[in-house]
Amino acid sequence: MKLIRFNEGRVGIVDGERVFDVTDIVGADPQAWPPTDICRVIRDFDSFRPAIATRLATGASVPLQAVRLQTPVPWPNKLMAYPVNYHDHAVEMASRGLANVQGYFLKSNSSLCGPADPIELPALAGREVHHECEIALVIGKEGRQIPAGKALEHVFGFACLLDMTIRGKEERVFRKSYDTFTPVGPWIVTADEVPDSANINMKLWVNGELRQQANTRDLIVDIPQMVAIASSASTLYPGDLIATGTPAGVGPVRDGDVVTIEVEHIGRMEIKVVQGTRGANVVFEKPYEFVRAS
Ligand code: MN
Repeated sequence: MKLIRFNEGRVGIVDGERVFDVTDIVGADPQAWPPTDICRVIRDFDSFRPAIATRLATGASVPLQAVRLQTPVPWPNKLMAYPVNYHDHAVEMASRGLANVQGYFLKSNSSLCGPADPIELPALAGREVHHECEIALVIGKEGRQIPAGKALEHVFGFACLLDMTIRGKEERVFRKSYDTFTPVGPWIVTADEVPDSANINMKLWVNGELRQQANTRDLIVDIPQMVAIASSASTLYPGDLIATGTPAGVGPVRDGDVVTIEVEHIGRMEIKVVQGTRGANVVFEKPYEFVRAS
């Protein structure tokens, strides 16, 4: 199933080009703050499946085009991300900081945004903000020290994810945590609809020009190992997000660009880029030039 949040906190299921509102079935409160209801919905999702199936068969629906999609999990307990996780991107960045050497890092949860939200470039003269095409793993079952062999039992589903990044030598968390730097969506596809998570194609275009493409078979740290490594340090909770790392082809985006990400079996989203007026600080005053290694 394709699980969405839409129209200010409602919960829905997308079936073809139709949206079925299941807010009542899952017991979500669109007014709740903080907006953490979806984490419980994900944890308990199997118990809602029969009622959802009935709703899809007999209930009212609205066109997908008529709703405003929101980021599926706005307040996860954690937003974890793997660094350089494809060999071609390691070459491009002349990086030794591979995912199998460094493990994961955290991004600010407040960097999350949805498919209808533009990426706001901070007002940092001379700095490049790069697109990184990735997949989000959505954790469905709590666990610690999860063995790789059981990892997929803890994955609720998948979504498209952009890990936007200011290039530079400053703290990685800082460069990646600006508001709108982690678009996720357009929905969560439940894991039962992805036939083989070790064989997912993904592509990214800027203004229609193909910039990145990869398949999860080429990951340095594969999806089960990502869950194993992350859960060795921290308890994973339902709704936690893990970004899988990007392949080669990263590059700058500018005001007015449209970034399109498409992940096989999952979906596609088109995100606008706008120049913002906020974001300057003393740390980023020193210029930095990004030099591609190959
Ligand atoms: Mn990344």
